[in-house]
Amino acid sequence: MKKRWRMIQKTALLLSALLLSGCAQSALRPASPSAPEEDSRLITEDGQSTADAVPSTAPETTAPIPETTVPPQPESTAPPPLETIEIIGGGEIDLSADPFAEGREPAGQYAPSALMYHLILEEPYTNLTDLFVRPSEFEDHLQVLTAAGCEFLFAGEYGTTEGRSIILTFDDGYEDNYTEMFPILKKYGARATVFMITANINAPGYLTEDMIREMADSGLVRFESHTVTHPTLTSLSREGLQEQFAGSANRLYELTERYPTAICYPGGTVNDFVIGEATRYYTFGYTTVNSANTSGCNPLAIPRVRVSRGMSGAAVMSKLGW
Ligand SMILES: [Zn+2]
Repeated sequence: MKKRWRMIQKTALLLSALLLSGCAQSALRPASPSAPEEDSRLITEDGQSTADAVPSTAPETTAPIPETTVPPQPESTAPPPLETIEIIGGGEIDLSADPFAEGREPAGQYAPSALMYHLILEEPYTNLTDLFVRPSEFEDHLQVLTAAGCEFLFAGEYGTTEGRSIILTFDDGYEDNYTEMFPILKKYGARATVFMITANINAPGYLTEDMIREMADSGLVRFESHTVTHPTLTSLSREGLQEQFAGSANRLYELTERYPTAICYPGGTVNDFVIGEATRYYTFGYTTVNSANTSGCNPLAIPRVRVSRGMSGAAVMSKLGW
């Protein structure tokens, strides 16, 4: 495992050097740069058509996000440009940091189910209302799951457990994950994983660096990859995939001092080629296949139960088949 990770780290280092040298700049641009219509969308509903993908965050795009899609914000700041991808630690990778050392050694008869959330917010600010689970509903979910003796695992801890276990996942990294979700998580001592679009860190409506650090430091939240710019991975070249995988991993390491070990495929779009490339960087991959049964699944293609607005704790339990 260790050897493999070091190989991955070296690959990441090489890639980063490539990026810095500008050799791969052109590949950083989205596959279809002429898609300003799609760019107006702030929220992505994973699993839907790729036309619903998150806005492109190409550095050359300076057009402001239309008012209707922007959540209440005191001020607007552009997403960080992709040039922020850089070599970690001033060019030196810390080989003593073995990401697998923190892993648990789960063993048991239960395979965890994964739940897919996006936002925890009382009032939806787009027409994708299903994605906005009310805070009271999320609290109900945690109450019921806790009462059922459920163990909360991080996405990077996937494995069999002795009792019932659950993996709470939040896609994209919206701001409410800090303002609404995090306080409820603390109240129950539950643990959750945020799949962060790293180019959107500090962008309007998304988590800031400070929020990410505070959440990660709490020990209750881990940040895993949702790529750099949320592209349709099946349309990318090997080089493009490597930039998305390595770039997001480096950025998260820079912020949390922990390399991600899991990735969530944007829009749930994935194929064998993408998975093959993902295995070079990640141990676990999460899809939008809507199923509670993860038993015997490919660890790079773990299904998740979609949680929608209006679902009670009992409804979640029913979806889980508990
Ligand atoms: Zn997403």
